[in-house]
Amino acid sequence: MSTRPSLSTLRLVWLYPDLLSTYGDRGNLQVLAYRAIGRGIDVDIVEVTSDKHMPTEGDIYLIGGGEDGPQALAADRLRADGSLPRAVNKGAVIFSVCAGYQIMGTSFMAKGEQHAGLGLLDIHSQRGDKRAVGELAGQIDPRLHVPTLTGFENHGGRTFIGPNAAPLAKVTHGIGNDGTTEGAWAGRIMGTYLHGPALARNPLLADLLLSWVTGSQLVPLDDTWPTALRNERLAAVNPKQLPPDANNAMELM
Ligand code: GLN
Repeated sequence: MSTRPSLSTLRLVWLYPDLLSTYGDRGNLQVLAYRAIGRGIDVDIVEVTSDKHMPTEGDIYLIGGGEDGPQALAADRLRADGSLPRAVNKGAVIFSVCAGYQIMGTSFMAKGEQHAGLGLLDIHSQRGDKRAVGELAGQIDPRLHVPTLTGFENHGGRTFIGPNAAPLAKVTHGIGNDGTTEGAWAGRIMGTYLHGPALARNPLLADLLLSWVTGSQLVPLDDTWPTALRNERLAAVNPKQLPPDANNAMELM
């Protein structure tokens, strides 16, 4: 996999903000930009609306959540564009949320019909019995070395992971993929059901994505406020079993 160790400018590509970006998913872009700039890395942001061809030179591609109609349209246009698989072959990172996550898989349901996804992640999505709405928490795959996942979910789909991808987390509160696992990742492609936005609630997940590009660990930032947010949200869903992040705790204000 290619990395850019002497990275001076990080290229962030935000896909289809005209169709997909519910519940503050744009914040993921802002968090990545903020945390890159905090490490002395310049950021170049490209916003690609669904009527435009996307570049294949991005370092990190972001795609958010949305309702069934825009989701199906976005999948059609992404498949017609054909650039995202080429970017992945060049080593790009993808962080996809909810509808965007389902689109990365082989198929998903929208408005009662099955739609083809991009097949970049070994997942497929069906419809669940009831909408999954509310806070979610979970323990992230230990291989990723990221503390407890926290966020907000609102989706009707249920997602099933094949042998070529791994769950992002084990669910301790909420539904996620199927009540047991949440999100998926394989190589540099990651998906999650979480809004919040996800990377504001999980800043070390943002750093993981950045480190996949730079190929090195990043110097820590002052995460006092994100930590306070995390602790408040984690305590709200499970006060007994989910203690505050051990290495950066602060008293709730
Ligand atoms: N339309 C999809 C579902 O309901 C995704 C929802 C979303 O992105 N919030 O499962």
